[in-house]
Amino acid sequence: MQDIVIIGAGIVGSFLAHDLSKYDLKVTVIDKENDIANGTTMANSAIIHTGYDPEDGTLKAELNVKGAKMYPEICKELKIDYQKCGAYVVACDKEEIKILDQLKKRADKRNIRAYYIEREEIIKNEANISDDVIEAISFPDTAIIYPWQCAIALMEEAVINGVDLILGEKVYKIHEKQGFFTVYTEKKAINTKVIINAAGCGAEKIANMIEKSPFHIVYKKGEYFVLSKQANKFVNHIIYPVPTKVGKGVLAVPTTHGNILLGPNSNICESEDLSTTSEGLEYVRNHLNRIVKNIPYHEVIRSYSGLRPTGNNGDFYIKPSYKNKNIIHLGCIDSPGLASAPAISAYVIQEYIKKCLDLLPKRKYVKRKAPPVMNQLCEKEKNDMVKTQPLYGKIVCKCEKISYQEIVDAIHSPCGAKTIKAIKKRVRPGMGKCQGGFCEIEVAKILSKELNIPLTQVLYDEKHSNLGTEAK
Ligand SMILES: Cc1cc2nc3c(=O)[nH]c(=O)nc-3n(C[C@H](O)[C@H](O)[C@H](O)COP(=O)(O)OP(=O)(O)OC[C@H]3O[C@@H](n4cnc5c(N)ncnc54)[C@H](O)[C@@H]3O)c2cc1C
Repeated sequence: MQDIVIIGAGIVGSFLAHDLSKYDLKVTVIDKENDIANGTTMANSAIIHTGYDPEDGTLKAELNVKGAKMYPEICKELKIDYQKCGAYVVACDKEEIKILDQLKKRADKRNIRAYYIEREEIIKNEANISDDVIEAISFPDTAIIYPWQCAIALMEEAVINGVDLILGEKVYKIHEKQGFFTVYTEKKAINTKVIINAAGCGAEKIANMIEKSPFHIVYKKGEYFVLSKQANKFVNHIIYPVPTKVGKGVLAVPTTHGNILLGPNSNICESEDLSTTSEGLEYVRNHLNRIVKNIPYHEVIRSYSGLRPTGNNGDFYIKPSYKNKNIIHLGCIDSPGLASAPAISAYVIQEYIKKCLDLLPKRKYVKRKAPPVMNQLCEKEKNDMVKTQPLYGKIVCKCEKISYQEIVDAIHSPCGAKTIKAIKKRVRPGMGKCQGGFCEIEVAKILSKELNIPLTQVLYDEKHSNLGTEAK
């Protein structure tokens, strides 16, 4: 019998697994995907918003402000990327300046650092700001992270501390018996005292397995262009337009690895469809033109999209089931779900889990050891590594400068990568200009060797995504 089953290994499920692994509990995490962070956490803007945007009185406002303040310490402890690049919300006319005034008031009320800057000051820092921009508010504490790295590091530490992680199995049925639940996947039936429904876009379906879902999700797709690192000076801050009822708008966002993201739009979608569309990307282009100029589209290396599980009242839905207080629904976790995730986890544990279970701290908690990242070492450190492990000197991905041994390390890490995409998310071969054109097959060969499976059984990502078939 488990104490807790968490359904969903996105950023929210990963924070919960990590935080709950500090207590003497039996915790299992189940995700239908073959890797951690393959849902909405896979594809977003990666911004730790400071929390000036959500409406007063919402859970979003409360948890975003708290979560953003928790990230620096968490990222330091886990030794993962966190960059306070700062953000400019820009205004192009008098009406938009009125919106800046509202944001400033809200930021002041919430103790978020924010100050006005005039056009002359903006262009000193951002040469590519549009000629129409007249004023901005600077939010110096807005930050960016690497969401997959964060979720994976959290889950690794959870697994090191005893959490059981089941990947590639979809929860399709939940039965309630006297005093406990049985959670069914294709292969297993797991008994548990408590369920946390952190299934992102799938959360309403999970809720419907227990009761008529108390929340309704609408999928809102956001599409992006990714610019290569050659364009990394295009913007230094995150550049936002003023927000509207539709959302935070189309942005230019630096990433922790030196790329630039352009997007997203927001389009209602009937199914969990992640294709990008020419109309969506055209919308991104048209809206971006208002806030930035000289956009280096010749440096586009990829487009992608993510799905927001948006609720009907604009707020997160975080409450126990009406039928049984031992099932906690985390519904409608759209933006700023990433920025809020550490605070969502703390809130769920404090408000609900403590009322269902005794939480006794573990006697011994083990910290995760971050793997070496060769392209971040100085020459001497690199040489020392290569002397002890020569495969740290064999480069597989020439664009991102990723060595053979780093890929092997990722395969044998606590939540080991089993697919090409899982390797890409952990150590980045295929994230550069060639997008895997040269290194993907080399990565597949390493997976085949290390996992001891034929090359044709190596998956790109989900079931049946094999790279090739046996020759007849
Ligand atoms: C375009 C876009 C831009 C965004 N930008 C930002 C931003 O800059 N900053 C910010 O704070 N937020 C942003 N967000 C929101 C943020 O990405 C999400 O709020 C956050 O990632 C949600 O995490 P999660 O763990 O709740 O969901 P997910 O990451 O979706 O995780 C849920 C998991 O549940 C699994 N699952 C679903 N159904 C089942 C089932 N039946 N059985 C087993 N597993 C199941 C899925 O496979 C998935 O892995 C953005 C979102 C989008 C789409």
